[in-house]
Formats: sequence, structure tokens, C-alpha cells
Amino acid sequence: MAAAEAERLKEILSGCRCAVAVAHVAPDGDAVGSTLALQGVLSGMGKEAYVMLPDSIPATLAFLEGSERILVYSENRAECDALLGRADLVACLDFNESKRVDMMQEALLASPARKIMIDHHLYPQPFCELTVSRPEVSSTSLLLYGVLNRIGWRDRIDRRVASAIYTGMMTDTGNFSYNSNDPAIYAAISDLLSEGIDKDYIYTKACNTFSADRLRLCAYAIYEKMELLPGGAALISLSRSELNAYRYVKGDTEGLVNEPLSIEGVRVSAFLREEKGMVKVSLRSKGDFAVNVIASEHFGGGGHRNAAGGEFYGSLQEACNRFREVIPGYLDAAASR
Ligand code: 5GP
Ligand code: MN
Repeated sequence: MAAAEAERLKEILSGCRCAVAVAHVAPDGDAVGSTLALQGVLSGMGKEAYVMLPDSIPATLAFLEGSERILVYSENRAECDALLGRADLVACLDFNESKRVDMMQEALLASPARKIMIDHHLYPQPFCELTVSRPEVSSTSLLLYGVLNRIGWRDRIDRRVASAIYTGMMTDTGNFSYNSNDPAIYAAISDLLSEGIDKDYIYTKACNTFSADRLRLCAYAIYEKMELLPGGAALISLSRSELNAYRYVKGDTEGLVNEPLSIEGVRVSAFLREEKGMVKVSLRSKGDFAVNVIASEHFGGGGHRNAAGGEFYGSLQEACNRFREVIPGYLDAAASR
């Protein structure tokens, strides 16, 4: 990080009185971890600081200290609008375009607060006065850790902040199984452990606290619904009625899309979930096969090379057909490179 950029960021963070850390809709561990971490740092400095998310966090992240005070826009719009109206800093973490905050977008853009972005998605939109964008960093939480060190605020990372940062680092790399060759990750983990975080506890809470229904749903999805397509693609889809049969709650299908990648020769995996009025698309890949291109060209979304997503407006059947139709072209193109 250039000295001038670090100086500006430090000046903006130091100068605020009332800060709101926001992240993307359907918040994951990195979104929740990075926002709670920044909130923890700023409130530790005696500032008024909040985390505000478009919708609620998955139950698996409720162990994070401070998560009980997260403001949820979809549940408390009036209070959130008022806060965005009086805040003097909005920190946008783990997203690159304002539409990723969904129904919060209008209030976010209308807020008179100064805005900064700290994020690791490609192609950041210019809606903040300072944009710290590092697509090569595996998680926004690790990026925030680096930024805090760079501006000389390492001593403001206490155990609670460290736990939040570690959670984001862990979840965005599939427990350090992809995007995870950067030595800086392990230097950071070592340092965070020195703050007294319990990484085994964090893993258990984030990954081993699901319901029996959730495991049965995933088993059903793999056993009954997984389609293997020629060339190394896998497709799983779940309809509303299938989800209902297993009493689906938010977060239950998190990680399911990764499972087919454990099959030798499968390079790309898609999971399509029927939601109200649209189909949510999740894509994952191994190696240099890029799925963010597929997400943006066919599903109005984006993401990273190996993890991307989007939405499809049409039936679940149509969404599946779209994937089946377009995937051979991408596989052929990759094979001929
Ligand atoms: P997931 O499959 O876990 O929902 O999302 C994986 C990644 O894909 C996210 O971290 C995000 O970068 C990207 N992503 C998922 N859904 C969308 C979407 O609707 N729009 C955009 N632009 N990116 C998405
Ligand atoms: Mn992230």
C-alpha cells in the first residue's frame, strides 16, 4: 500500500465520529468477519461504530462476539436509514459494486457520510472517495489485517477483532484449501493466535454446528441430484419443494457447491437454488478455469476466478438448461489453451 494511500485511509478512519461498516447481501464469513473487525477497532478507539448488513447472518456465524448487535437493514429499515443519515463514515467491506447491498443500495448511496471501500473483488465501482481494492488477496479480512498493520494500528487488534479477522480468512479460503498459498496468510494467523484466538473453536462453530436436516439435504442433493456433464462439469439444482422437504434454512447449502470438486476430473461445479422470483447461482472451479466470466456473461453476477455467483430470472429448469448449454464452450476453450 502506497504511503499516500495509507495516510489518507488513516486520516479518514481517525477523523470519523460515527462509522458504519457495511457488507454484501447474504453475508458470508468474510463479510461478517471484516465488518465486525473494523467495528471493533473503531469502537475500541471510543468512536460510535456499527455493523449494518442488508440481511441477517447465518446461524453458524452467531458465535462471533458483537454479531448480536449487527443492524439488519431488511428487519429495521427506519433505524438503519436514520443511522446512514447521521453517520460520518461508511466503510464498504467485501463488495465492489453498490448493487451488492441489494435493498440497502439507495440509502447507502444517499448517505452524506464519507465512503471508503476495502475489498478483494475484481473491478471495483467508483462510488467511494477512497478505494482499497486488492483482488489478489484471498479475503477482505486478511486485507483489513494488512491495512491495519500498514497504518500502524496493529495494537488495536484485540482478541475479538482477531477472531473476526481469522473467521473471514478461514471461510473465504475453504479452511485454507484454495487461494491459500500466500505466506502472508500464515504470518497473519501466527500473529492472530498470539492475541489468544481459538482457531479450533472458530472452525467448530463455523463448520460443525449445522442441523441433521442440513446434512440430509446435502446428502440428497449429491446422491439424487448431482449431474456429471462431459468435460468435467457438475451441476446440482434444488427446487423450493425439495428445500422445504428438508426444512431448509439460510446457510444450509453453503459449501454444497464445493463437494463435486472432490471428484477427480471435475473442474467446475454449479449449484442452482430456486428462490422467490429467481434462481441463485453458485459456481466453483479448480485450477485456472475461471467461473467469474460465466457468472457475469450468463447470470448477471461476478466474483473470483474459482468462486463466483449470480442470479437467473426464469425457472429452475431454464437456469439448469442455460448452464448445460453454455458450459461445453467454456470447457472447450479452456482445453485448447
Ligand atoms: P456464493 O456462491 O458463495 O454465493 O458466492 C461466491 C462469490 O461469488 C461471492 O464471494 C461473490 O464474490 C460472488 N457472487 C455471488 N453472488 C453474486 C452476485 O449475485 N453478484 C455478484 N456480482 N457476485 C456474486
Ligand atoms: Mn470475501
